[in-house]
Amino acid sequence: MPKPELEMDPDTWLLKLPKVELHLHLEGTILPETLVTLSERHDPQPLTLTGARQLYTYANFVGFLDAFRAVTERLRTPDDYELMTYDMVRTLAAQGVVHAEVYISFGILNRQGRLRVEDVMPAIERGRMRGEAEFGTTVYWIIDAVRHFGVEEASVVFRQAAEMRAEWPSIVGIGIGGDEARGAADQFREVYAEAREAGLRLTAHAGESTGPSSIWAAINIGAERIGHALTAKDDPELMEVLAERQIPLEMNVTSNIRTGCCPAFDAHPVKDYFDSGLMVTLNSDDPPMFGSDLLGEYRLAYGQFGFTLEQMRELAANSVEASFLPAERKVALMQAVEQYGW
Ligand SMILES: [Zn+2]
Repeated sequence: MPKPELEMDPDTWLLKLPKVELHLHLEGTILPETLVTLSERHDPQPLTLTGARQLYTYANFVGFLDAFRAVTERLRTPDDYELMTYDMVRTLAAQGVVHAEVYISFGILNRQGRLRVEDVMPAIERGRMRGEAEFGTTVYWIIDAVRHFGVEEASVVFRQAAEMRAEWPSIVGIGIGGDEARGAADQFREVYAEAREAGLRLTAHAGESTGPSSIWAAINIGAERIGHALTAKDDPELMEVLAERQIPLEMNVTSNIRTGCCPAFDAHPVKDYFDSGLMVTLNSDDPPMFGSDLLGEYRLAYGQFGFTLEQMRELAANSVEASFLPAERKVALMQAVEQYGW
């Protein structure tokens, strides 16, 4: 297919295309350099930059969860959270991201027991507001429970989210992440219903490291967006339902390769999903831990998966549509995406 006549090169066009990020973990946005700063603040024997980079190197999904834990263990004070959040907004803005919906793992904070979420959230909000004012990128929060910690702990997390939403309306939803094999979504049906009652939007990681039944379960407990959905391709009936209902899929290509959940780029279903009419969105998950970011994912889709630039625009529009933004902002962003020139 002929490309439109571009006045700029595709990389620059993708940079300036207004983008929305829907699947990003706050604790997964820490750059190795920031991790060294945190380590100098808190570790008796601080990490070197090489050591920090090594932490981001792992062989499989369990190794990734270990690395993620190593990073979160070095978040010791509310100030650390403020710094991390501000840095995240700056980094997003630099990629042309106009809005992001970002997971915060209250599940890990509660389990660590070192800091109270009530003390951390105001610091995160300081970082967000400073970042928004300075760089213009808006951020919503999705409060994440760790599924393999069980339903009780998830229930605590979702109640905290509901209570804090009154003070911090930027908290818009909840989700479950972690090891799918040790935390089937079915168990969370009631706590998801409670969260919905409390006005929270529902998401769930599903079909990342286990099969399509995990995605069915997520849909059945009311998840409005599915994180990853990598294994949907193994179930034609599920593919039909996802297409029919246009359930947004928060896809994370580089993440899937780096965690070993997908063996190779040419085995990744992102383009097949798109061509099958599924509601695909591109996301970065834990960018520095995967050596990527949202702009990198857009460039990858264009350069390696054969999306045309017009289809890249469609992907950007999908993310606006799938966001939890109010209607007026969606309309404005949609216009910005549609009217973005060549
Ligand atoms: Zn994720």
